[in-house]
Amino acid sequence: MDCKQLYSRCTLCPRECGADRFKTVGFCREGAQVRIARAELHRWEEPCLSLKNGSGAVFFSGCSLRCGFCQNYPVSAENLGFALTDRQLADTFLRLRDMGAENIDLVTPTHFVPSVIAALDMVMGELGIPVIYNCGGYEKPETLELLRGYADIFLPDLKFFDPGLSGSLAQAGDYFEKSLPALRKMTDIAGKPRYDDEGRLIGGVIVRHLVLPHHRHDSVALMRALRESFAPDEILISLMSQFTPVYRSGELGLGRRVTTFEYKSVLAEAEAAGFDGFIQERSSAMEDYIPEFYDHLYFDLPNT
Ligand code: SF4
Repeated sequence: MDCKQLYSRCTLCPRECGADRFKTVGFCREGAQVRIARAELHRWEEPCLSLKNGSGAVFFSGCSLRCGFCQNYPVSAENLGFALTDRQLADTFLRLRDMGAENIDLVTPTHFVPSVIAALDMVMGELGIPVIYNCGGYEKPETLELLRGYADIFLPDLKFFDPGLSGSLAQAGDYFEKSLPALRKMTDIAGKPRYDDEGRLIGGVIVRHLVLPHHRHDSVALMRALRESFAPDEILISLMSQFTPVYRSGELGLGRRVTTFEYKSVLAEAEAAGFDGFIQERSSAMEDYIPEFYDHLYFDLPNT
């Protein structure tokens, strides 16, 4: 499928900038050539994704959401990274597979979906491992539909319920309004969670949620909304507690870590909803998970 023309009047994400990304950039500050900042094995995803060797994580430069507290802000907000051709991106996927990656983990790929599809078209037959669409949850069903037959697992980080909160922290007052139908589309494409004999997730949707300091009520409202919209066996929930104040967190009123009380309040609501899932320990600060990023192609690829 050639969907590169979608860059010429870009409406890939709910911002719908309409930018001609062959000539300029939109809110995500990225043009029509794919850029990444890192492609390595990553051992800090959920256990059913990381397994023994880790996910083959490809971190895309730029972001259509740009939250003010982003742990990866050099990449998401400051657009650190380097350009690749579609062939090089395809070879990057193969390199990760050859390193033993349990899956290909596309981190914040929304604004580069046409390039991802072009690259996957080159290697789908030989990849042999699941493909994860690991995104910020601010998605369009039409864009997600392009991924049918390409993405096996969706890993949205569902961030906000209240429009005022998403407006102030991510300039996206319509965040939840857009995210809910996107989640429904993800379950439609990926189906219910399912595993292979080794406990590897091979299909389904894991909804992540990072609890923010001072905003447990918003997290609880989010869990209730999920409970009203999805049956317990339709999605998995991954509740994350390791928020660490970085980037503009202080000025946004997020200047500390999450308390045990805040986290347990949200956990109780998720458990009451009956969702299966994962809990990440409070002892691990986010800095532990923040990898090194690069502004140049730092690994060898064939014909490069
Ligand atoms: S992907 Fe980027 S250019 Fe396209 S609509 Fe979203 S923010 Fe705008």
